Amino acid sequence: MPSSLPRTDLAIVGAGVSGCALAASLRRRGWRGSIELLEIGRGPGGRAATRYSRQDPDLRINHGAPLFNIRAQTPPELLQALEQREVISPFRGSIQSLDGQRSLGPAIDDGFSDGQLWQGRGGMDALAAGLLELAEAEGGVLSRRFGTLVRHLRPERSKTGLRWTLENSSGEALVEARWLVLSGTLLAHPRCQQVFGWDGIPLEQAAESLADPQLNAAQSQLASIEGQASCNLLLTLPPEQASAWLALPWQVLQCTPSAQERWGLRRISIQPLAGGRCAVVAESSPAFAAAHLHVYGSRSSAAQLLGAKPDPSDEKRVLDALTQALTDLSGQTLGDAPRQLMRWGAAFPLAPGLDPGHGCCPESAIGFCGDSLAGDGFGRIEGALLSAEDLATELMKQL
Ligand SMILES: Cc1cc2nc3c(=O)[nH]c(=O)nc-3n(C[C@H](O)[C@H](O)[C@H](O)COP(=O)(O)OP(=O)(O)OC[C@H]3O[C@@H](n4cnc5c(N)ncnc54)[C@H](O)[C@@H]3O)c2cc1C
Repeated sequence: MPSSLPRTDLAIVGAGVSGCALAASLRRRGWRGSIELLEIGRGPGGRAATRYSRQDPDLRINHGAPLFNIRAQTPPELLQALEQREVISPFRGSIQSLDGQRSLGPAIDDGFSDGQLWQGRGGMDALAAGLLELAEAEGGVLSRRFGTLVRHLRPERSKTGLRWTLENSSGEALVEARWLVLSGTLLAHPRCQQVFGWDGIPLEQAAESLADPQLNAAQSQLASIEGQASCNLLLTLPPEQASAWLALPWQVLQCTPSAQERWGLRRISIQPLAGGRCAVVAESSPAFAAAHLHVYGSRSSAAQLLGAKPDPSDEKRVLDALTQALTDLSGQTLGDAPRQLMRWGAAFPLAPGLDPGHGCCPESAIGFCGDSLAGDGFGRIEGALLSAEDLATELMKQL
């Protein structure tokens, strides 16, 4: 093992909302051990990230969650601090629904639109970035490594306790950690074998060597979580086209089941940009996404890291189908506006999720957070925040 291998008290895999919230929660509870955060993507946010462009500095598109709702009676503690730092603000846009006859109606209960509505200021990635700022403001070492795919988890027991070594796809050690937290399900799920062609499930392989019944239970529950996919069409409209979209009576349009069946779209959001432009994001229905699961957007971080070359003709076919559906549904012209595809293989976990009783496995020095933890906010940003706070409470007894 190279002597320069960084050592840390806690390695967190994933800088989505839950991974960043865990760092912030631990710091706010007074823990000052070292944290190493490893993330495949180019920046924080995960499924609540914002897409930027080097060529177009004013462009920002929320290509995952466009907003979030808080429904729990006791909201996440971090929410207030985020609001005070002006990282998030109330979402005041109008939400309406559209049925299969193209009739507009009031918002329907889709699980994402009731309770208090929030958005990241300047982009949804402000939420995760703001959580990291909150963590850093409290002190302690917090290293972040973006563009880094963790491929192998190697636990090793010794006289001094258990140590986790994390490795990349080439088998190079990235960090050695006293405790490990997985904030996404990829490393525990057979999806990683289907998507990346891996020969095993990293957490399953690690669990086999540790023989810890609690970790085995956590691993098998995580591995059995089904996820719904989403193919998102991202459009950037110039001012002459954007004005008609910005004048619509809604900023978020939910498609009822009959509309989803007709157009293959689930939800549309209009995201204003500087200079009178706007982005329009059309999220596909689960059925559309399931039928096009093999088609990646050419900007997929994981595909780029693994050297996968998305087929441009496949991508164009999916983009054409989504563009046609959006044109037909909205009656608006889209012309030759720049468009991109964002394909989320596991956008929304399906219940039951991971039993929170297995969220922290002290014998194996590993914990789990994220929207896949069963409980309030399951499958949503609220759940990502709450699960991180719950795990921080448990870790404070262990770290
Ligand atoms: C299209 C879409 C729309 C949505 N709309 C809403 C909404 O309106 N309201 C709402 O509340 N929620 C919404 N959600 C869900 C919401 O985005 C998630 O609940 C939330 O972002 C989950 O955060 P998380 O930290 O649990 O997981 P993630 O955001 O998935 O974070 C996990 C992170 O881990 C990283 N990672 C995983 N494996 C590895 C590895 N091996 N190595 C390195 N990094 C790794 C991933 O890249 C990712 O950044 C939406 C999601 C999608 C996709």
